[in-house]
Amino acid sequence: MVNLEEQIKLIVELQGLDTHIFRLEDELESIPEKLNLMEEEFKEKNSNFKKLEDGIKMLQVKRKEKEMDLEAREGTIKKYQTQLYQIKTNKEYSALQEEIARVKADNSLIEEEIIKILDEVDNENRKIAKEKEFLKQEEFMLNEKKKKLNEDADRIKGELESLKTQRLELTGKIESSVLAKYDRIIKNKDGLAVVPVAGESCQGCFRILPPQVINEIKMKNDLVFCENCARILYIED
Ligand SMILES: [Zn+2]
Repeated sequence: MVNLEEQIKLIVELQGLDTHIFRLEDELESIPEKLNLMEEEFKEKNSNFKKLEDGIKMLQVKRKEKEMDLEAREGTIKKYQTQLYQIKTNKEYSALQEEIARVKADNSLIEEEIIKILDEVDNENRKIAKEKEFLKQEEFMLNEKKKKLNEDADRIKGELESLKTQRLELTGKIESSVLAKYDRIIKNKDGLAVVPVAGESCQGCFRILPPQVINEIKMKNDLVFCENCARILYIED
């Protein structure tokens, strides 16, 4: 003869264990996802840094172009200055001098532009230095978080192992017909097979239970199921 009161106590305990196991399994499953997300976020921050570096490279190219332009123009001025000695008429002489003055004026504009670019490079370099420091801290924090999550994963695996050992011991004490019903319900009902009655309602689906159902539970002659959600009902002591 099966002691049903005892069996109900055992499956209530089993439900507690299983709920704990499911929660830990969910937590364990979420860890790789969290790690991935953190890596992705860090990669994105790193790509911002690459953009800053590319920006500087472009500025340096621009500067180089301006410098070469300037150099070519200095050469032109020199060439004109030599030509000045070979000129025969005053008109030609002053025309060439005007031309030299024009190129020189352009050159000072280019020089100003180069100075502006150099200022920009300085600014960008400061930004890069800050960003580098920021990334260093981010990487440190990322590694700390990764370490913590991996430790969590190890801890959870250990807990799960001991919970599963406890589960095995517990299920050994449960009647196979009772256990079969429990297993079937827990699979179909989101991991919740045994629920208490609180007030007059099932704590699985929160429907009010008819008085005769509550009486049946109190009699403890047989397992009583919720008519609505089909879970096993019990009344807490
Ligand atoms: Zn129910």
